[in-house]
Amino acid sequence: MSVPVIERLDVQTVLVPINPPHRTASGLVEKSPLVLIDIHCTGGLVGHAIVFTYTPAALKPTADLVLGLQALVVGQALAPRSLNDQLLAKTRLIGHQGLVGTVIAGIDMAAWDALARYKQTSICRMLGGAHSPVMAYAGTGYDGELETARQAEAWVKQGYKGVKAKIGYPTAAEDLAVVRAMRAAVGPDVELMVDYNQSLQPVDAINRLRHLDDEGLVWIEEPVLAHDYANTARIKDAIKTPVQSGENWWGPTDMRHALDADASDFVMPDVMKIGGVTGWLKAVELASAAGKQVSSHLWPELSAQLLALGSSSHRLEYVDWWAEILAEPLTVEAGMTVLKDDLIGSGVTWNTSKVEQYRV
Ligand SMILES: [Mg+2]
Repeated sequence: MSVPVIERLDVQTVLVPINPPHRTASGLVEKSPLVLIDIHCTGGLVGHAIVFTYTPAALKPTADLVLGLQALVVGQALAPRSLNDQLLAKTRLIGHQGLVGTVIAGIDMAAWDALARYKQTSICRMLGGAHSPVMAYAGTGYDGELETARQAEAWVKQGYKGVKAKIGYPTAAEDLAVVRAMRAAVGPDVELMVDYNQSLQPVDAINRLRHLDDEGLVWIEEPVLAHDYANTARIKDAIKTPVQSGENWWGPTDMRHALDADASDFVMPDVMKIGGVTGWLKAVELASAAGKQVSSHLWPELSAQLLALGSSSHRLEYVDWWAEILAEPLTVEAGMTVLKDDLIGSGVTWNTSKVEQYRV
């Protein structure tokens, strides 16, 4: 059986509205700027991937860079790990963070999707995993005491057994009030997490977080800058509540640096920033060997499959921001991910009319 050969890459840029807009301590997110990548191979095979550019200003440069790297992959066999090695080698001098890392990860995710479609199986099964369910949690925004509690209660009514709130209000008392309002709304058995989105200053983070230390939180996420491993480690060692971090680490090397610093109790790589499926596999092996439990960030469809692979898997961050442009978004039942038996590829297939509607 000959391996398909890559013929070309296609890109589309979309702005998908987030309803309601998502508020964090770092600002309001109203739309998701996404580059949709299609990798076309011989035999009519096409693989798909989404990359998230965070700001609309990066949409066109990201799409252009995908097409710019096209010459490096066209004519190559569809072998995602080898392809990834080659792309990383050819971009070593510009570096693997930012747009370059985003685009290489996007091509990688699309290549893995295509290969699984070629083999008529899911990425999870192709990598030797079973379609195991993973516990998912839902999120609320930086929306104040009453609204955060209302949203948390609504998620729990939908079957979720965990909810994460964005906090980082001007005072520790406000953060505590939001956590207590959520707890009152959802009861004692629901897992609660909080996310500072890197908004605290190292000088007062420990004092701030001690106010939350008796609230039974599963984790406190990104209290300070994600790459400030030394201060994150210091904070982690000074409080009882586990610290979570990882969504802003670029590639397996950042994972290694964070593990070397023992900066976080848990890790939650983002499948794009960590380097696509290939980067995820490498980074998660390191984390698992270091005894860290692994959760995901965004990309619920693909992350559900990658978490289903691992014995160190912890929680899936469920978000529905991009569900509208997908033909079959991830299903969560009673708070657990459901991977269908007949799932093919990465779970990313376009809802073409919605893609058309949000195209920019
Ligand atoms: Mg976060």
